[in-house]
Amino acid sequence: MDRELKLPEAFLKRMEGMLGDEFEAFLDSYKEERSFGLRVNTFKISCEEFERIVPFPVERIPWIENGYFYQEESRPSRCPLYQAGLYYLQEPSAMTPASRLPVNPGEFVLDLCAAPGGKATALGAKLLGQGLLVANDISTSRARALLRNLELFGISNVFVANEKPARLTKAFPEFFHKIVLDAPCSGEGMFRKDEALAKDWTPEKSEELAKVQRELILQAANMLRPGGLLLYSTCTFAPCENEGTVSYLLEQRPDMELTDMEDYEGFGKGNPAWGNGDEQLKKCIRIFPHKMNGEGHFLALFQKKGSALARPMVLQGQPDKNTQKWLTEFFREIGLNSFQGVPFDWTRVETRSEKVYYLPPVQADFRGLTFLRNGLYLGDLKKNRFEPSHPFALALHKGDAEARISLPLSDDRLSRYLKGETLQIGQAEAPHLKGWHLLCPEGYPIGFGKLVNQILKNKCPAGWRP
Ligand code: SAM
Repeated sequence: MDRELKLPEAFLKRMEGMLGDEFEAFLDSYKEERSFGLRVNTFKISCEEFERIVPFPVERIPWIENGYFYQEESRPSRCPLYQAGLYYLQEPSAMTPASRLPVNPGEFVLDLCAAPGGKATALGAKLLGQGLLVANDISTSRARALLRNLELFGISNVFVANEKPARLTKAFPEFFHKIVLDAPCSGEGMFRKDEALAKDWTPEKSEELAKVQRELILQAANMLRPGGLLLYSTCTFAPCENEGTVSYLLEQRPDMELTDMEDYEGFGKGNPAWGNGDEQLKKCIRIFPHKMNGEGHFLALFQKKGSALARPMVLQGQPDKNTQKWLTEFFREIGLNSFQGVPFDWTRVETRSEKVYYLPPVQADFRGLTFLRNGLYLGDLKKNRFEPSHPFALALHKGDAEARISLPLSDDRLSRYLKGETLQIGQAEAPHLKGWHLLCPEGYPIGFGKLVNQILKNKCPAGWRP
């Protein structure tokens, strides 16, 4: 690193006490460049296909099934594949929590502190459109960024909430099969990535955050159904926020026990002496930057004792006649064969104030909760037609619709589309002579356009342009 990172004295002293002989190696890690990672959206594309089409060098992250290192200068956020929602940019260690929580399609999953969506997008991809993802954040501006990332990823079975966790607890007692609590923390593990965190650090902050974390972890435990799994994570080294919070839950809730996570050679273990001495704490994972190619992290996986019978909660809605008529017309125009690889489910369509949504396939009671989105925003009913939304285009998978204009990544019309320009399209490039088409780098939709006389009118909204 060409700049000298100034770390707080009290932090260094505590780390020296924690690490002993390893302290020098830990300090040396701050002289090295941090690594950059991206996580493939396996709901939209396989890792093999991604490796085939990605136009910059990538290298597999050994402890993350769908994670890759990239070089900073590759600037992957500028690649049209990013605008198609095929990957999420995420620090490699931060990929670990969602990767260590087994999630099965059809389950009800909660991400309690979810913004901007690093874990929620991974959980949503694992659900494969089945079941329900509730993604919450207490901050409205951050919840907006969360919604956008989930839309980019094409997650349609989602409820994006902007609530205080206490209110969610009342709405969802023992409801979820899986919960992630990626808690607000002192961020000690991210000092190399974000120097401002080191400047703001004080030992008192950790104590204050530990109080918040204890409240949040109890609330999460209340929302977990018997037999369910709760993954607690932070990006700090502070024992009071890590082993301390975990010990607190073990003491308060005898029905919660720690369980093992898939191991990796660079992982460290939780230390019972940094908590209440409970030997179970060894099941926690600590990630130190001197042992792995990533920043600092902490993870604990709890299971709630007992088991619960699955409750059938299938949504049984029906679209109104007008919506069905104009949506059917639109589907015919774009040649919709499937939605995310399966038949479109009309029971999930709901129209509110001329806006058409595709609800999650699960009947849940969200009444009274503040939320940004329930399901996927499909588009708007206009007079005698349906106008699709940009998130609808992003939710469509490669094989879903026939009206695709697929261009190679080297084609500069892709970047011009993302700047809002109108495009010239050759006759052989478009399947239909006119009407709605999806523009697709390598076959993967990045947005809609409307073709008239070989000119594609740009339908990418200004707010979605990079
Ligand atoms: N899980 C996110 C990801 O992977 O992108 C990062 C979450 S960040 C570590 C913690 C989040 O908790 C912040 O977005 C913050 O707004 C939110 N937060 C802070 N206090 C909270 C509280 N009391 N209840 C719920 N969320 C809270």
